[in-house]
Amino acid sequence: MSELTELAVEISECTKCLLHKSRVKAVPGEGPEQIDVMFVGEGPGFHENQQGRPFVGAAGVFLGELLQSIGLSRDKVFITNVVKCRPPGNRDPLPEEIKACRAYLDRQIELLRPKVIVTLGRYSMARAFPNERISRIHGQPKKIEGIVFVPMYHPAAALHQPSLRHTIEEDFKKLPEILRKLDEMQDEEPPEQAQQLSLF
Ligand code: URA
Ligand code: SF4
Repeated sequence: MSELTELAVEISECTKCLLHKSRVKAVPGEGPEQIDVMFVGEGPGFHENQQGRPFVGAAGVFLGELLQSIGLSRDKVFITNVVKCRPPGNRDPLPEEIKACRAYLDRQIELLRPKVIVTLGRYSMARAFPNERISRIHGQPKKIEGIVFVPMYHPAAALHQPSLRHTIEEDFKKLPEILRKLDEMQDEEPPEQAQQLSLF
C-alpha cells in the first residue's frame, strides 16, 4: 500500500474532531499519485459524505466542466478538502475542526508534491493567503516555498451567481499559462501569520 493510500485509510477511521460522529464516510480525496495540480475545496457535502469521494455533487460536475474547458480531466489532478468529514447541514467548518484536520492535508501535500495548488473558497485560501480577500486576489498565482498557489472562488458559490461563474471560468483559463511558466516565477515570502491564523 502506498503512503498516500495508508493515509486515506487513517483518515477514514479518524476520530480527531467531532465531525467523525455525524459522517457517513470520510472523504480523504482522490487522484493519481503523480500530479502537477491539486485542488483543495472546503469540506464534503451531502453526496460526498454518502460516497466517500470529493466533489461528486453539483459543484463537482461544474468543477469537471471547468477542468475540461482547459483540457484537464479529473483523473489527471488530485482533489481534496480542508476538512475530510462533512460539517452537518453543510455549515462552515469550525476553527477547531480545521485545526484537527490540518495535518492530513499537510501530509498529502508532502507526499504528492504538487507544482500548483488551486484553493477553492475562503477556508482553503486562508492557509496560503491569511487576511486576504478572495474578491481581491482570485486568479493571482503566488509561489510559496516552491509551490504555486492559485486562489479561486468556490465552484458551489460560482455555480449559482452569474458574475462569479464568469470570474471562475476566466480564472481557470489562466491555469495552462501558469503551468507553462512555473519555473520563471519567483518565490515569495511565506505569509508570516500563516501559523497563527484565526481560522486555524
Ligand atoms: N464542496 C467542497 O468544498 N468539497 C467537496 O468535496 C464538495 C463540495
Ligand atoms: Fe478527523 Fe478531519 Fe474527519 Fe475531523 S474532519 S474526524 S480531523 S478526518
